[in-house]
Amino acid sequence: MPEGWEAVIGLEVHCQLSTRSKIFSGASTAYGASPNAQASAIDLGMPGVLPVLNREALRMAVMFGLSVDADIAPVCVFARKHYFYPDLPKGYQISQYELPVVANGHLDVELGEATKRIGITRAHMEEDAGKSLHEGFVGASGIDLNRAGTPLIEIVSEPDIRTPAEAVAYLKKLHQIVVYLGICDGNMQEGSFRCDANVSVRRVGTEQFGTRTETKNVNSFRYVEKAIAHEINRQVDVLEGGGSIQQETRLFDPGSGTTRAMRSKEDAHDYRYFPDPDLLPVHCDAAFIDEARASLPELPVDKRARFQEQYGLSKYDATVLTGEKPLADFYEAMVEAVVKQSGAEAKLCANWVITDLLGALNKAGLGITESPVSAPQMAGLVARITDETISGKIAKEVFEAMMAGEGDADAIIEARGLRQITDDGAIAGIIDQVIADNPNQYAQYKGGKEKLLGFFVGQVMKATGGKANPDAVNRLLKEKLGPAG
Ligand code: ADP
Ligand code: MG
Repeated sequence: MPEGWEAVIGLEVHCQLSTRSKIFSGASTAYGASPNAQASAIDLGMPGVLPVLNREALRMAVMFGLSVDADIAPVCVFARKHYFYPDLPKGYQISQYELPVVANGHLDVELGEATKRIGITRAHMEEDAGKSLHEGFVGASGIDLNRAGTPLIEIVSEPDIRTPAEAVAYLKKLHQIVVYLGICDGNMQEGSFRCDANVSVRRVGTEQFGTRTETKNVNSFRYVEKAIAHEINRQVDVLEGGGSIQQETRLFDPGSGTTRAMRSKEDAHDYRYFPDPDLLPVHCDAAFIDEARASLPELPVDKRARFQEQYGLSKYDATVLTGEKPLADFYEAMVEAVVKQSGAEAKLCANWVITDLLGALNKAGLGITESPVSAPQMAGLVARITDETISGKIAKEVFEAMMAGEGDADAIIEARGLRQITDDGAIAGIIDQVIADNPNQYAQYKGGKEKLLGFFVGQVMKATGGKANPDAVNRLLKEKLGPAG
């Protein structure tokens, strides 16, 4: 942040709802169909058609509102927002203006140890527009209207955000919630979750907000951070050079990490909003809201608190494991399969998931739902550590074999002969041999070099291919070697 300046940031997030059909028609919302195969006459506003609200989309919007402690409007109204753009052939978008379905919510965002509350002004329902296609056309653009009529909620934050890092933390939290709720697939590359960033700057100590710009469609968390940081610096440079900020829409260019002016920004009155005469006002009664509430899953913060409590995990471990719902489900299935009795084993499971499994999946570029090793298989591995069939170290080898598709832990342990040697007699025999093979080290140890104990432990482990039980090796070696010096 440039010295003496403060940024004011508000985010608008468009989130595609995962309904099967569109917001006002029965056309499919599936992604990737051939262009215009899913462009229904209703979504294009052809003469004589009548839109009908998709109940499921409304339920999802209400679920979102409930999960950010917002008010659900008893009556909300759809309005026409007029503008011209090739991907909107009917000349208006059906949106909500004066009476949105969700208002006055908030999200508590964590930044290190601190928590900051970001207000959510409103979330309104609207239809998505189509898409212009530029690739494969010469001297022209194509229009694909498959996306037209896909249900969206636009989530508008209060201008409470002050830094690019806060903006990213807010967005990640929002993303996590809508994906947990199952109302959005969260795919940022495909545009299911997209963000416009409103940014202005002011001198530290000033009350009044500066003029804002709106940077469009920054389609990754990293780009949001970069785009906002760049926009802050650009505005400060302009103002310090004696210039003024134009209220405008800007476009982020990922290649250069800069933003450039796209068009001067419309004011609300330019859109000629009016209630859509084809759609009745929508009444959300208590029964409908209760239905939405009943379908809310456990939210990430609650799940995290429960994981800490129930499994005795640190806040860090619980945060990682509840980061994604499928990961949390994987972990719980594993704990359930492995033991359930003691907190210690739940902690061991957490270590294996966080360090080993997530590490290996990351390396392979896989998500938890694509894991080649299942939760019961992971449980089978941890069970062999806790019953001392194998040591933690050998378990790493078994895990690698599991990742490579060699089967369950038990099968791998048998096939590779990895069973831990716990029999005192067998270990003692190996110790005798090791002492006999290393007379110099033995003499030095007896001469007072106590730290050579480690050398002998190493030799015994080597002789057993790492399979001797380490506790037994230590105990028996101390007995056999006797006191040093
Ligand atoms: P528009 O339709 O013009 O984009 P919205 O009300 O939908 O307006 O969104 C405005 C967004 O801009 C909100 O997120 C709000 O918090 C933010 N905002 C408003 N004023 C400022 C400002 N001066 N600086 C930064 N952000 C602002
Ligand atoms: Mg807006």
